[in-house]
Formats: sequence, structure tokens, C-alpha cells
Amino acid sequence: MNYESLPPFANEAYRDFSEPIHRAAMEAALAQARTELGREYDLWIDGRPEKGGPYKLKSYNPSRPAELIGVHQKASAEQANRAIEAAHTYFPTWNAVPPIERVKLLFQAVAILKRRKSEFNAWMVLEAGKSWAEAEADTAEAIDFCDYYARQMLRLATPGPLVQMPGEAGHLVYLGLGVGVIIPPWNFPLAILVGMTVAALVTGNTVVIKPSSETPTIAAKFIEVLQEAGFPPRSYTFLPGAGSEIGDLIVTHPKTRFISFTGSKEVGLRINELAAKTQPGQRWIKRVIAEMGGKDAIIVDREVPDIDAAAAGVISSAFGFQGQKCSACSRVIVDESIYDRFVAKLKPLAEAFPQGPVISASAEKTILNYIEIGKQEGRLITGGAKSTEEGHVIPPTIIADIEATDRIFQEEIFGPVLAVTKARDFDHALQLANDSEYGLTGAVYTSNEEKLEQARRDFFVGNLYLNRKCTGAMVGAHPFGGFNMSGTDSKAGGPDYLLQFLQAKSIAEKQL
Ligand code: NAP
Repeated sequence: MNYESLPPFANEAYRDFSEPIHRAAMEAALAQARTELGREYDLWIDGRPEKGGPYKLKSYNPSRPAELIGVHQKASAEQANRAIEAAHTYFPTWNAVPPIERVKLLFQAVAILKRRKSEFNAWMVLEAGKSWAEAEADTAEAIDFCDYYARQMLRLATPGPLVQMPGEAGHLVYLGLGVGVIIPPWNFPLAILVGMTVAALVTGNTVVIKPSSETPTIAAKFIEVLQEAGFPPRSYTFLPGAGSEIGDLIVTHPKTRFISFTGSKEVGLRINELAAKTQPGQRWIKRVIAEMGGKDAIIVDREVPDIDAAAAGVISSAFGFQGQKCSACSRVIVDESIYDRFVAKLKPLAEAFPQGPVISASAEKTILNYIEIGKQEGRLITGGAKSTEEGHVIPPTIIADIEATDRIFQEEIFGPVLAVTKARDFDHALQLANDSEYGLTGAVYTSNEEKLEQARRDFFVGNLYLNRKCTGAMVGAHPFGGFNMSGTDSKAGGPDYLLQFLQAKSIAEKQL
């Protein structure tokens, strides 16, 4: 097997659940998952299962808050320390496994995830409150990350030739770094967890996975995939526990070599700061790969090619998975000449958009608080209060006439709240779009080629979309990562991503 001999990479196709065969598969998977509700899962440290203390971590269904999904251990400080030490001890063994063998294991994981697709979807419906379609996209992205990174590792296993000095043979090899602490968020509870984990594993690192406390069951199910695929039991660790309790410990541990984090700006900056301080006995500068929040803007110009398509794109970007995507459109910036007409188009689309729950009672409280702030700052167009449905449901909320100085223009809300702002012209719209500490995704709807060129040059975001929505990045096609406070711009799902988990060794040999 080598990189060139593989058929080209193709994204995993989404199933259409209006087809009876796919509907039936999902219904069966949900029924099966329901038989396992409330099951207890163990920690996995140094190749063995372990219990934690008497206090357990419990996850609940955001659509039915009383429904218990999984019971998990809370790793103690002693267990967290031991987990890092054990992963450090095993690292040289795993790093010495030829890349091709690690790649084969990852292709095994692809096959298992494909087989268990409906099962993973079901757990995401139950534990994260995803719709079937959103869950399908999440599982497909997890499969894509495994498939894509396996191929990228094959490519890096035989780096291109170096310039050869006379009388010398020179070459470059890539080595793993050491123990990677993997800290994912709950909003793509499978795809992001899987992407960060397998990128680190396939490059020869051992991983200590601290799952999100909202979605630990989905993470536990993925640990089963690593087991079934044949990854050595000591190459991965499953360490649930509250980030506020064990997070600092695993980040600052002197044997931790790097931290791969996706989540909020506040936690990401804390990790970055703690990781920068050298601990007694530490022998390296820790690397931090941090992908953080967004305050993503879509510009709708007066020369919009199709105003209905633009309104649909904004609504889908703003309210898909209840706006709980780092890429979600939370600001739409509209040219004044079409402003009223555009706002009028948004309202019925938002009201017809399928509703679902936000992740937790505390998220619900934060979002409702921002809605109250927004009502003071602007004009409520639709939504604006909790739904009477069961679960943490907040209907799509649109607040117009928001200024750049307003809090709901500047702060990440991470829920179904869209701020609408008026721009005098395209220059002003771009200036407003860039008026943010974040820089993750952005989109522009215009048919004017000069304005598109201006956006390509001046819209300062890691992922720019022209005449389309700003969510739905596909592995391989849209390498993903943000500028400024949106993170370290790691470009997940892109050709450069794996280099962040590797160190290159240059070897020059004098010919005798
Ligand atoms: P979060 O609150 O920052 O939590 C993320 C992870 O960090 C969780 O596993 C959490 O564990 C852990 N954590 C909390 N405190 C910690 C500490 N002191 N040390 C180490 N780890 C700690 O974020 P979230 O609510 O899960 O996710 C939403 C955020 O993620 C949003 O800001 C969103 O924009 C961002 N996001 C960004 C991207 C991207 O690619 N840029 C993608 C998805 C999401 P506990 O659950 O135990 O607290």
C-alpha cells in the first residue's frame, strides 16, 4: 500500500432518511441504544478498565432532560497522573511501529465506523440532541477524518527527496511527539473527538482522551472502535472527568508533550497559558493546537445574485443544530438598500425551521440571557423566549438593528440567535464583518466580481465562502481552522494538519 496506489479520497455519502430502508436502520439503532440507556462505562488506563471514585459523571438527553444516557467514572488526580505516566512509558513502542501498520489500523477503524454508522447517529440523537441529518453528517465527517488522515500519513511516510549535497546522502523522517492530551467539545461529539484522536495516533503519539462531560457516552463508544480496530490497548487512554477538576493537571503534567483542544476561547487561552510554563522535569516546549470560538458573519450585498437563496443560506448557517456550531452565522450584515426586504424574508424561514434542544440547562440559561440583552440592544424579529416543548428548546431568534458595539454583535452566544446589522455599502460591510476578535468562518453573497475579489483579499477569516452558506466544511475540500481568537488555524481535514503532531528529523550521512 502506498499513497499513490489508493483510489482517490471521497467524502462519505449522506443517507436520505425519507427512504424507508435508511429510516428503518435509524429506528432500529435508536431502539437498540435505548436498551443500553443508563449503562455504566469504565475508565481505560494503561490498557485496562478501571473504576473511579463513588461520584459518577452522568449524561442526559437534551430533548428529555430526565432521561439518563450514560454513567461515567470521574478520574481522580491520581488516575490522571498515572494515565499520563503510562502513556509516556508506552510512547516509544507505539512510535516505533512502522507508519504503514498504524495506517492499516486506521483503515480498520474506517470500516468499523461505516458499519456502526446508524448506532453512532443514534447516540448523538440521544446524548447531544442532534437531528438525524445532523447526526449523519457528524458520523460521516468522523469517517472522513479517519480515511483522510490515514492517506496523509502514508504520504508523509515517504517525504519527497531533499537537495543532495555532494558526497552526502540526506533524508527526512517524521516522528511522533509523545503523549497528546485530547480535549474535544460536545457539539461535534464524534467527528471532532475522532479527528483529533486519530490524527495524533496515526502519527505515532499516544493519546489521553478527556471527553466533554456533556457527551462521554459517544466517546466511550469510539473507544470500542479503537479496540476493535486493533490499536494497541496501551496506545489510548479514556479519562472522563470534569475539565475544571483534572484539566489543569493533565495540561501541566511534565510528561504531556502536546495538547489538542477544541472548545471555547476561555478554556483554550487558559490551556495555552498553562502549557507555556515549563514544569520541573519537563524536557520540551509543549505544543498547543487550539481551535476555539467564532462570531461568524455573512455579508449580503445589494448585488446579491438571488436574495431567496441568500436568505436560505443565512438561516441554515444560523440555525442548523440550533446555532451550536463554531462556524454558525451569528451576524448577518446587509446592505441598507435591501435591508428591510431581506429581514422580511428571514422571518418566515426562521419560523419554519425545524427546532431542537440546546445541549443543557446551563446553555439554555446563558442563551436566554443573551436574548434579553439583544432585546435591549435591537429589535426582536422572531423567537425570543423558551419554547413550551419538552427539552431545552429555544426557537430560532432574530434580532435586527444591531450595532457593532452591541454585545450580541461581539460575543459568542453558541445558540440559535442571529444579529442583523445594516451596512452603508460593501466597504462598510467588510469593515463590520472584520470588527471581531474572532476570525473563523465568513460568507459573502454578491454577483460583483470586484467585491468578491475584495473579500478574498480583505475578509479576515480562516474559512471564507462565496455565494454559499458558512457552515458544512467538508474534509479534504475545506481545511478548517480560524484566525485570531478563533484558534491556532490548525486546518483540520487539510493536507498540513498532521504535521502539527509530528517532528521532523533530518539525517545527513557522509559517503565513505
Ligand atoms: P468548553 O467549555 O471550552 O469545553 C471544551 C472541552 O474543554 C471540554 O472537554 C471541557 O471539559 C474541557 N475543559 C473545561 N475546562 C477545562 C480546563 N480547565 N482544562 C482543560 N480542559 C477543560 O467548550 P464546549 O462548550 O464544549 O464547546 C463549545 C465551544 O467550542 C464554542 O466556543 C465553539 O465555538 C467551540 N468550537 C470550536 C470549533 C473549532 O473548530 N474552532 C469546533 C467546535 C466547537 P468539561 O466538559 O468536563 O467541562
